[in-house]
Amino acid sequence: MSAAAIASLTVAARHLITLLLPHQCVLCRRFADTTGLCAACWEGLTPISAPLCARCGLPLGHTLADPLCAGCWTNPPPLAAIRACFHYADSARDLILHYKHGDGLQLTPLLGRLGARLFIELASDSPLVIPVPLHRRRYFRRRYNQAAEWARHLCHHTGQGDFAPNLLVRQRATRSQGGLSRHQRQRNIAGAFAVLPEAAPRIHGRPVLLVDDVLTTGATLHEAARRHAAAGSGPVSALVLARVTRLSHA
Ligand SMILES: [Zn+2]
Ligand SMILES: [Zn+2]
Repeated sequence: MSAAAIASLTVAARHLITLLLPHQCVLCRRFADTTGLCAACWEGLTPISAPLCARCGLPLGHTLADPLCAGCWTNPPPLAAIRACFHYADSARDLILHYKHGDGLQLTPLLGRLGARLFIELASDSPLVIPVPLHRRRYFRRRYNQAAEWARHLCHHTGQGDFAPNLLVRQRATRSQGGLSRHQRQRNIAGAFAVLPEAAPRIHGRPVLLVDDVLTTGATLHEAARRHAAAGSGPVSALVLARVTRLSHA
């Protein structure tokens, strides 16, 4: 049986168990309503709210007529817009770690509900929806790409965008970005992605919406956006589940 078939059987078994048992919070296992999180874990989610930088989505301390953060004034990113649902802390961090490392595909519908509003906003120009790919070695170890599962669900349930998971590949394995400075992250990710040559006609002139789970410095999204621009895409934007809004090392 293929890894994908085993993964989908596991998900089906989990769905059955959740139907038969009282609802539990996916994070702390306490009683929850049907939304998947208990009240305390809901409170641990901190949405990123306006005022934001119109370009990179960084929360701003004040509202301006033309709201851009200092970074976007001086050195604009290669993306037209970046938006994140939550601050990367508390419940958002726990959800993402479960999703990524805990065989957590049963979280996809919940994460889909959490991301739908921003996704609909960003997908209004019918973009190609392209998840940030894993290197194939990591993919085979984990058996799924969490960003791709989230993106697939968002496209399917909102009816927006054109899910296109196989146009961008990670051609080089990179060391984990954790613990690296902004500059080291840029160097680590440089040249890691490639748009497949056969994808070029599909990408040409089309808006692209990249989807990933966490944004830290933006180095990964910037690199992926540059590859699409070089392949002749239209404007590139990005949606992430959570962003780190306070870097301990910049
Ligand atoms: Zn909980
Ligand atoms: Zn900005």
